[in-house]
Amino acid sequence: MSGAPDPVVLLVEDNELNLELAEYLLADGGFRVILARDGPQARAAAGRERPDIVLMDVNLPGVDGLELARELRSRPGWESVPVVAVTALAMRGDRERILEAGLSGYISKPLDVSTFADSVWAFLDRQRGNR
Ligand code: MN
Repeated sequence: MSGAPDPVVLLVEDNELNLELAEYLLADGGFRVILARDGPQARAAAGRERPDIVLMDVNLPGVDGLELARELRSRPGWESVPVVAVTALAMRGDRERILEAGLSGYISKPLDVSTFADSVWAFLDRQRGNR
């Protein structure tokens, strides 16, 4: 162990089952997890602490997850925080839309329990390598 603190994930997800599964996998994978179920909760959490990475459900109540992601990344000091869409979207053009929104990429739903946490680590490592 390096003694470094566990990286912090802000997990934005309105579906309780998806939320609980992702939280479990992330905690098991070595992350500290902050939960938000909608836009207001995500904004409040973001105001308290800047996470190391954000996982953003695209379909949220009352707000487009991509718009919310764009908003979070516009906060001062957040330029380098990777934001990853977690989405079942698989239509042509969705990947472009996600990247155009300034996101780092996406992870597909349903979550693959054997690779999910590693995928998040990979996004974080890529970001750290770019610094
Ligand atoms: Mn959703």
